[in-house]
Amino acid sequence: MIIILKENADAQQFATLEKWLTDRQMSLHVSKGSHRTILGLIGDTSALDVTLIQQMEIVEGIRRIQEPFKKANRKFHPLDTVIRVKDTVIGDGSCCIIAGPCSVETPEQILTVARSVKNSGAHILRGGAFKPRTSPYSFQGLRAAGIKMLLDAARETGLPVVTEIMDLSQLELFNDVDIIQVGARNMQNFELLHELGHTRKPILLKRGLANTYQELLMSAEHIMNAGNENIILCERGIRTFENHTRNTLDVSAVPALKSLSHLPVIIDPSHAAGIAAFVRPLSRAAVAVGADGLMIEVHNDPQHALCDGSQSLTMPDFAKVAGDIRRFASLRMELES
Ligand code: PEP
Ligand code: MN
Repeated sequence: MIIILKENADAQQFATLEKWLTDRQMSLHVSKGSHRTILGLIGDTSALDVTLIQQMEIVEGIRRIQEPFKKANRKFHPLDTVIRVKDTVIGDGSCCIIAGPCSVETPEQILTVARSVKNSGAHILRGGAFKPRTSPYSFQGLRAAGIKMLLDAARETGLPVVTEIMDLSQLELFNDVDIIQVGARNMQNFELLHELGHTRKPILLKRGLANTYQELLMSAEHIMNAGNENIILCERGIRTFENHTRNTLDVSAVPALKSLSHLPVIIDPSHAAGIAAFVRPLSRAAVAVGADGLMIEVHNDPQHALCDGSQSLTMPDFAKVAGDIRRFASLRMELES
């Protein structure tokens, strides 16, 4: 249930209402907009006397909400959530570019890619150190050493970094990481989500291969319910009957998730396509459909990449895609203003 307060609600009356609700075992999620305040009620609202609340002086209106996600729900929090990472902003209407290799391989490799993507306009550097691979015989990532190489490249270039966590035991290694990624395969690792809710770091939460929007938002809710509301949702392609591409990019996810939730939504066209040549058109589509950002795999030598070479852009190709993204994003801003 949400309670919409009248404009410029009186502080004393607000405190009285707050106490009245908390006395009835309600947890409150308060969203203060520029004009009005919205109270999201979490708990069993079935015993509340709605008419009584309605009659309170400061109450403008009440709405029952059906969706099981509350804190991630746009009805609770009508304004877009904007996430700040160093000098970069995600969710303010601009289009953030995250780029880097699938995996960190050597200090030279990650630094070369970091410098190049930065010159091409990337805002955030990506690079996996813990890799969730289908086969145990594939490269599994450099683990702690990989995180160190990524952070060294970050320091050198000034770019913030995002990298994937696979298990809670790794959390300590993420102290200096700017954004923690939860990969598609861990989207419903609820223990992990809960613990990440105790951190204050932005979490890049990728949609599972076969998960619905509601399931993705419920996973975000797990993190938010534990205290961390800095979440970026990521559509990275889903399993369908089509096997020409690695996955099927669900572009509807962007407007759908943004209508259901206030959290920013980005697209990963690389894991969606699995084919480098498709990354440019899918990136254009991502901007057109309203994505708050893109995450793109880039390698200095895709032919010899230890992971996901076939979907990785060369550094010069990434420069072209980044140029497209900027031009499409400024057209989008113009159309929306
Ligand atoms: C990745 O981003 O490196 C990755 C493994 O992605 P996903 O979880 O979407 O497969
Ligand atoms: Mn990859």
